[in-house]
Amino acid sequence: MKILVTGGAGFIGSAVVRHIINNTQDRVINVDKLTYAGNLESLVSVDKNERYVFEQVDICDRAELDRVFAQHQPDAVMHLAAESHVDRSITGPSDFIQTNIIGTYTLLEATRAYWNELSAEAKKAFRFHHISTDEVYGDLPHPDEVALDTELPLFTETTSYAPSSPYSASKASSDHLVRAWLRTYGLPTIVTNCSNNYGPYHFPEKLIPLVILNALEGKLLPIYGKGEQIRDWLYVEDHARALYKVVTEGKIGDTYNIGGHNEKQNLEVVKTICSILDALVPKDTPYADQIIYVSDRPGHDRRYAIDAVKISNELNWQPEETFETGLRKTVEWYLTNQEWCQHVQDGSYQRERLGI
Ligand code: NAD
Repeated sequence: MKILVTGGAGFIGSAVVRHIINNTQDRVINVDKLTYAGNLESLVSVDKNERYVFEQVDICDRAELDRVFAQHQPDAVMHLAAESHVDRSITGPSDFIQTNIIGTYTLLEATRAYWNELSAEAKKAFRFHHISTDEVYGDLPHPDEVALDTELPLFTETTSYAPSSPYSASKASSDHLVRAWLRTYGLPTIVTNCSNNYGPYHFPEKLIPLVILNALEGKLLPIYGKGEQIRDWLYVEDHARALYKVVTEGKIGDTYNIGGHNEKQNLEVVKTICSILDALVPKDTPYADQIIYVSDRPGHDRRYAIDAVKISNELNWQPEETFETGLRKTVEWYLTNQEWCQHVQDGSYQRERLGI
């Protein structure tokens, strides 16, 4: 297959590209604008491979997308390009509306024009896989809000949409557009909604890499509110494997939720990172002494948790990493890849707080 991956220079996109090049015989066309979050250094292990090609293109640029489709003739699209950081979406929603909504619309239209001209056989085999987030569902009851014996609900593929932030609202909009292009035009689409990812090559504005780097530099480790928010963490390479399974084996028109069965409170995540660092890079005082509590994020969702039974039963996918093994690998990766960390923080972002 020739797979056009959008956002392949980002955190999850680069894991997808590395997975495809390293584990399959497929070709990848990586379409990425290279915003602050996109970095070609995340792809040095595969970028010399003859099955990989890079196109620096904005998904809002219809003419360039038409050229890329005509030139590379892909068999499938995996659409990951997006503005992805909730705090940034609070400070400035405009880029989120532009890329996540207008960009997805533009990509759908370019794909549809290309797909319409394919042979009947190629048309049937084609896939447009839209990669989305569990944040479109809003948030779930937190354990401290329900009686002790109550079973806590999970997000399923039929949970109603109720996004809270400009980021999640823009992703929800893009999911709706993708489903409309299936229903109205017959474009063979599949949607996946995944929980919080963590792992190597994660831009250090997100909780886990930010805490690792701040801890190592002796800086404060900010916890929003009381740190009780619950996220369901998935190791990024497990996500990449799931996405490849979905694009190759998933059913057209279906949605698959992807999650790691790892519900953790933010405070617990930060304390676990601190104890891994205490063991790997010991110093006079425990890293947890650097924790401080700061005002909460506006509209902060309290709990996310994914029911991943469908993808497990139908596509035989399960995460390979536990939170403990994945987090240790992640901390070790950041310890040995300080150069990558320095290069991606190009001076425009110094790990300052956004979205207050
Ligand atoms: P990221 O911010 O690390 O990477 C996004 C990539 O998209 C970057 O390489 C950037 O350069 C590129 N991009 C941005 N705007 C573009 C444009 N207009 N045209 C072309 N390229 C553009 O994001 P990520 O964390 O890798 O997330 C990838 C996808 O997965 C997103 O759609 C996100 O909503 C979704 N998702 C993320 C998570 C998570 O925990 N990170 C969880 C579930 C779903």
